[in-house]
Amino acid sequence: MSADKNSRALFERARRVIPGGVNSPVRAFGAVGGTPFFVRSAQGAEILSEDGRSYLDFVGSWGPLILGHAHPEVVEAVRAAAGRGSTYGAPCAAEVEMAEAVVAAYPGLEQVRFVSSGTEAVMSAIRLARGATGRDVVAKFAGCYHGHADHLLVAAGSGLVTFGRPSSAGVPEAFASLTRVLPLDDEAAVEELFAREGERIAAVLIEPIPANNGLLLQRPAFLATLRRLTRAAGALLVFDEVISGFRVAKGGAAERLGIVPDLATFGKIVGGGMPVGAFGGRRELMEQLAPLGAVYQAGTLSGNPVAMAAGLATLRVLERDRIWETLEARGAELEAALAPVLAAAPVPARLVRCGSLFWLSLQPGEPPRAAAAIDPRSAELYAPLFHALLDEGIALAPSAYEVGFLSAAHTRGDVERLAAALARALAAAAEVAR
Ligand code: PMP
Repeated sequence: MSADKNSRALFERARRVIPGGVNSPVRAFGAVGGTPFFVRSAQGAEILSEDGRSYLDFVGSWGPLILGHAHPEVVEAVRAAAGRGSTYGAPCAAEVEMAEAVVAAYPGLEQVRFVSSGTEAVMSAIRLARGATGRDVVAKFAGCYHGHADHLLVAAGSGLVTFGRPSSAGVPEAFASLTRVLPLDDEAAVEELFAREGERIAAVLIEPIPANNGLLLQRPAFLATLRRLTRAAGALLVFDEVISGFRVAKGGAAERLGIVPDLATFGKIVGGGMPVGAFGGRRELMEQLAPLGAVYQAGTLSGNPVAMAAGLATLRVLERDRIWETLEARGAELEAALAPVLAAAPVPARLVRCGSLFWLSLQPGEPPRAAAAIDPRSAELYAPLFHALLDEGIALAPSAYEVGFLSAAHTRGDVERLAAALARALAAAAEVAR
């Protein structure tokens, strides 16, 4: 398509100097084929490509943009902060204000430390959990993503199911050997792990609302079991709220589910579109970090004043404008608009939703709750559906396994437009599947 020639030319240039042409793999469209559009600018719910095409954006930079692109109050806060200096390497008031806001928002949180990405937040929380418990084993769940730290790029091994194996080249077996990988939605597997080596487990790490491999909504009873078993064994429960934090509620999944973890990690929204992550918990745990405690953790740009300003502005608008209520309503509207479309769809399709997070499960039956329950054929249906939507000017994530994000910038008309376009896109996907 000639309309995309600028993006194609940029991709060509990019591939010469950036591996795969992108700085994060999923952006390369590998899972759906075709050439990624390069973005010139974005405003509200719209992204404008370098070819002048406008897309209604349901990715929102993978989660941070809960207020939409370039929200005027966030832009102004960033502009003002940058004018006062972009980084000091010394403490500043914005960090304190931001920490107070996060502590006030999240159940059980007494202290928080800021870092520069979700990966760093989780990596640091795990180090703290190991330092605080004096134990070395970490349990995670198949289908959850926690960033790209070595010991978390681990998949379920084949033989003894729970023993991890590296899911990336470059991760030594020795690192993976301290990570156990369990299935979601399976209390018995967790009970068995604790029975076998409960006294070695430093932390159980989970996305309480798993949103990196489809949207695998967990039964509350499963999460309650994790809380009970970790507490009984002296292990820490770590909620990775990098996606769910400040999205599914002010107090994240912990508030929504009524389960308080020992440590929680944040990213995305907390930085208002700037590079920020955070991790926090009870004072007695957090004070084991340097400079008070023996667990080392640091960062040149941690608590960066411009990023703190973006995060603070975002949190202020979220609260003032009661955005969580708006998004809940918008999500319900999406569900209502999609119901007749999905019921009449020529391929099996269901909407899975939690607040402003949504995912299309393209397989028969109840939506999956564990990674292994996802039918890999659904990804084959997704690629033509994705491209059919893109041709209509609607951007979903370029992977069947990624969720969609609603923002405060989406209108009722926008979700209705998505529903109408999906009816046509599902028909196109069905054609390909035949
Ligand atoms: N945890 C979760 C739940 C995530 O979704 C992500 C990123 N999508 C990360 C951690 C890693 O965050 P980052 O990409 O900022 O390093």
